[in-house]
Amino acid sequence: MKEKRGIIVGAGLVGSLWAIFLAKRGYEVDVFERRGDMRQKGYSGGRSINLAMSRRGWKAIERAGIKDLIEPHAIPMKGRMIHSVEGELAFQPYGKEGQAIYSVSRGGLNLELLKAAGDFPNVRLHFDQICRDLELDTNTLVFEHAQTGEQTNIKAPLLFGTDGAFSAVRGSMMKTPRFDYSQEYLSHSYKELTIPAGPGGSFLLEKNALHIWPRHQFMLIALPNADGSFTCTLFLAHEGPSSFEQLKTDADVEAFFQRYFPDAMAMMPTLLEDFRTNPTGMLLTVRCSPWEYERRVLLLGDAAHAIVPFYGQGMNAGFEDCTILDELAGELNEDWEKIFDRFNRERIKTGMPSQNWPCAILSKCATWWPTRSSCSGKRSQPICTENTGTLFCPPIRWYRFRILHTTSPSGLRTNRTDCWTVY
Ligand SMILES: Cc1cc2nc3c(=O)[nH]c(=O)nc-3n(C[C@H](O)[C@H](O)[C@H](O)COP(=O)(O)OP(=O)(O)OC[C@H]3O[C@@H](n4cnc5c(N)ncnc54)[C@H](O)[C@@H]3O)c2cc1C
Repeated sequence: MKEKRGIIVGAGLVGSLWAIFLAKRGYEVDVFERRGDMRQKGYSGGRSINLAMSRRGWKAIERAGIKDLIEPHAIPMKGRMIHSVEGELAFQPYGKEGQAIYSVSRGGLNLELLKAAGDFPNVRLHFDQICRDLELDTNTLVFEHAQTGEQTNIKAPLLFGTDGAFSAVRGSMMKTPRFDYSQEYLSHSYKELTIPAGPGGSFLLEKNALHIWPRHQFMLIALPNADGSFTCTLFLAHEGPSSFEQLKTDADVEAFFQRYFPDAMAMMPTLLEDFRTNPTGMLLTVRCSPWEYERRVLLLGDAAHAIVPFYGQGMNAGFEDCTILDELAGELNEDWEKIFDRFNRERIKTGMPSQNWPCAILSKCATWWPTRSSCSGKRSQPICTENTGTLFCPPIRWYRFRILHTTSPSGLRTNRTDCWTVY
């Protein structure tokens, strides 16, 4: 019998979950993570943003047998609550009664997954270990300790790269012949902000909604937390008019929020401090192929297919990678050569259609649709389907948009109609 041992590089959301799946199959699992142990130090990822978890995400969580651990951290969001500049509210349900997507804190979720993985006697978690190289000829990983600089070489029969959008594992695979790769930054970046809980831990906004303040070329969103607070994200162009580049001083930030988000600003006592101290995050899409190397190295999650957040699909797709891989492991009797081959051939084609949805279209929907346009056409109602769920648009395999703009971004009246079919 072949050695039942797997190495996972990256203990983020996908790596921690995949460690649980492998451990449940009786594998000896070693997980190497460049950050410190968040079970002791708390979450320090710089991106503690809340995530919207949909059906695809829950399916993986249920299959891993950890739904009870995650559920207390998840708040159902039954629809979007749209906030106009004047403070008017419009609720748009995501689906039928009982359907919702769920707000989960990235840090809280990562911590629970890590704890659950670490509870298996056959899982060893190694922190402060930065993957510097992967020698593909021998399947040898080179790690450097973040504090001491000490180098360690680890050889592994089965290796999973779950080290995110800037994956070091993928970096080595990119040097091999016929490896396709593209990386595309969005012109918009993001910043995390906070609306704290009200008196007695109350919610200052509707609890069971994803709040959106759409403002044409930019927007603010807020997702609820179990403690009554909301984690907000400002999506704004990196440079140009109305951009992060323009918001240099406290006065700039105050004037900007006063003009575009006055109701939200009134609930953000730490706005200026948050704006100054929280990093401005970049948004990018990564496409690559193949996702495996000689049936012994496999990329999962953002390492294989990072995607901009407007689709609400990155983590959900990464979790679905784990579901599919585990299903294949059952079906193919843990023959990893066959599993890697099938996963690579089928998942690239079917798993990430949303990566090919034109970003501009969905961004447009997010910022235009609720306030300035009427939308009609097949399946134009925002719904939450069985298999997926996104922040802003119905996630379906094909989708027809017809948007009649009654007002242009500059405020002029227009009757321009845009139509798209997206597969
Ligand atoms: C603003 C924003 C909002 C989002 N909202 C949603 C949403 O609503 N729904 C959704 O499904 N997705 C969302 N996403 C996407 C989601 O965050 C990612 O798809 C998800 O985090 C991918 O998980 P991962 O484990 O593949 O990568 P990551 O979460 O990035 O984890 C990678 C891990 O690898 C470690 N690592 C990196 N390099 C090395 C190295 N060299 N050596 C060792 N370890 C390393 C990192 O420290 C990290 O722990 C959002 C993303 C952003 C930026």
